[in-house]
Amino acid sequence: MSPDTRAQTRHRELAEELRAHAHAYYVLDAPALTDAEYDRLFRELLELEAAHPALVTPESPTQRVGAEPAEGFEKVKRAVRMYSLDNVYDAEELREFDRRVREGLGPDAAPRYVAEPKIDGASIECRYEDGRLVQASTRGDGSVGEDVTSNLRTVMSLPLRIADRRPLTVRGEVYIHGADLDAVNAQRATRGEALFANPRNAAAGSLRLLDPRMTAERPLRVAFYDLVEDYFPSHLAMLAHLAEQRLPTHRQERALDGVEAILAFIEEFDVLRHTLAYETDGIVLKVDALAQRRALGFTARFPRWATAWKYAAESKETVLRDILVDVGRTGALTPVAVLDPVQLSGTTVSRASLHNLDLIAERDVRVGDTVVVQKAGEIIPQVLRVVPERRPEGALPWAPPTHCPVCGTPVERAEGEAVLRCPNPACKGRLKAGLHYFTRRSAMDVDRIGPSLIEQLVEGEHVRDLADLFALESRTLLGLERVGEKTAEALAASLEDAKASRPLDRLLTGLGIPLVGSVGATLVAEHVGSLERLLGADPSVLEDELAEIHGIGAKMAASIVAFLQNATQRAMLEKMRALGVRATQPRRETKEGPLTGSSFCVTGTFDRKRDVIHAQIEAAGGEVHKSVRKGTTYLLAGANVGKKKTEAAVKRGARVIDEAAFEALLRGEALPEPEDAAPREAAESA
Ligand code: AMP
Ligand code: ZN
Repeated sequence: MSPDTRAQTRHRELAEELRAHAHAYYVLDAPALTDAEYDRLFRELLELEAAHPALVTPESPTQRVGAEPAEGFEKVKRAVRMYSLDNVYDAEELREFDRRVREGLGPDAAPRYVAEPKIDGASIECRYEDGRLVQASTRGDGSVGEDVTSNLRTVMSLPLRIADRRPLTVRGEVYIHGADLDAVNAQRATRGEALFANPRNAAAGSLRLLDPRMTAERPLRVAFYDLVEDYFPSHLAMLAHLAEQRLPTHRQERALDGVEAILAFIEEFDVLRHTLAYETDGIVLKVDALAQRRALGFTARFPRWATAWKYAAESKETVLRDILVDVGRTGALTPVAVLDPVQLSGTTVSRASLHNLDLIAERDVRVGDTVVVQKAGEIIPQVLRVVPERRPEGALPWAPPTHCPVCGTPVERAEGEAVLRCPNPACKGRLKAGLHYFTRRSAMDVDRIGPSLIEQLVEGEHVRDLADLFALESRTLLGLERVGEKTAEALAASLEDAKASRPLDRLLTGLGIPLVGSVGATLVAEHVGSLERLLGADPSVLEDELAEIHGIGAKMAASIVAFLQNATQRAMLEKMRALGVRATQPRRETKEGPLTGSSFCVTGTFDRKRDVIHAQIEAAGGEVHKSVRKGTTYLLAGANVGKKKTEAAVKRGARVIDEAAFEALLRGEALPEPEDAAPREAAESA
């Protein structure tokens, strides 16, 4: 044997051994090698490939995380679209489903069903050709998905090579184990990143990261449950083939004959599903025989041969150990339940929302009580109710705080509101919450500034307001606990980046001005242009201008101006500017359309909503004015518009048009030259 053939043989052996191990470890949960053995083989493979670069193929176990970050995802058009599933929620609806199936198949048919877990993740399609993974795509709208091959390649349970050389288009779910999600969220919390509300969001979000190296860090898994090609007569035969090819399946399929068997399984699985490492909120029931499936076909959205049984949202009992009071950015005090940890919908729950103080009194929630908590898709589970029989002796009614738990200021309660507030603007609790809000992804997006860092910065009085963040020196950062050189450097770099390049709308969003959400912030920022100009504007002029803008309105405009006129807030913004926060807003690309260059004021009544008309104008490139002013091109008058109004508009140089003329403009047609009264009057006033 020549050295090259020997290398080739060894390469094949090593790759196969590593593949078999990945399958045993990630799919069968039965590791075939110790970590040390695995590492040794992997290293040997790397060395071999370094010495013989010709041996490296895209399917080598060393080539999972190779690709560079992408700019975006290519579209993938499928020949056979991915369908949704219809749902049934009770035995009655299930019987109805079975009846329809039997009806579709004819009197003598006895459909066999296969039940399998409904895995809560993101669906994907993978194509294998000639035994190689050639493409992976997200579901998208069913017909067109996005190419996420580079990301999927990092999922260790997904084979890059299989033995079957036929074209194989498999569909399944990318998902994450509950415990892994807990770990990912814990890490995100320390980095100050938003938590994933549920496994589905985590899976879907991780699939669509532009950098495959980041996807590789997410502990994603995959389970297939469908094959597009009909090589097999039944679903069970297909699943068996996939498993043989080491394509991961959920391995929970169960053949069932008749509705009674299905109902029994539903009960059985309701117990079993809580022992699975991943979350399932239901069961998918499918007709097993492909010939029967073909006979039944599809509706516009669903296969007629399958449906999903959905279990009710999960709730559990646990003991409430304490009620903490959180201080929010605006000073609002919110109660949080501290619980004995319970497993709920796949993750560990030890905190839950108690909504507000009134509710605690209303439901008479006491420390020591056994409570029912529920989680239905949201990040923070809810305390539903108390179990009165299990109340320990001597449990006292909970007394709402009279003073802010952070700064000790007596709390205030606004008339008719359920919330208590800490009115102290210098409250450290409020500042900490404000810093979280300010630095989060959708606002100033500052990296590495988690809860522990914020805690230290505020408690150590290194940061007394939001602006102080931008004055932090590396020396200060290095003096903090658990901040090494690397973290300090990364944080400083991120702050510099935020100063130089975060646009004004992000800054405004982060300030948390009442009534100003991210959409409002963008409208304001696009009008104003920069922090500099915002601070330089004459408040009353600014208020009028903002109030005029469609989508802002008088209330939001007043709120912004009130914020700017508050001495403390203004000083803080001035300080930011002095520290180099630029916050310039790129000009909005004005839409080009038939109405580009024209502005409209809409008045009177129409068949469609005013909002719809406004949206049509903007979509066609036009501008909306709240009232006719100098430069308004058209007054679009509906029914019941008084003569006074139209005359006034004409005086200001606007042309009065009706809905038909508006439609013509939208179609890009020119209006006939105006005749009668209007132009003459306009001419007189000119
Ligand atoms: P829904 O999103 O509620 O319409 O449910 C349909 C989705 O369930 C599909 O698009 C799949 O992503 C997902 N799903 C999870 N497990 C299965 C399974 N075993 N069979 C089919 N679909 C499944
Ligand atoms: Zn306070």
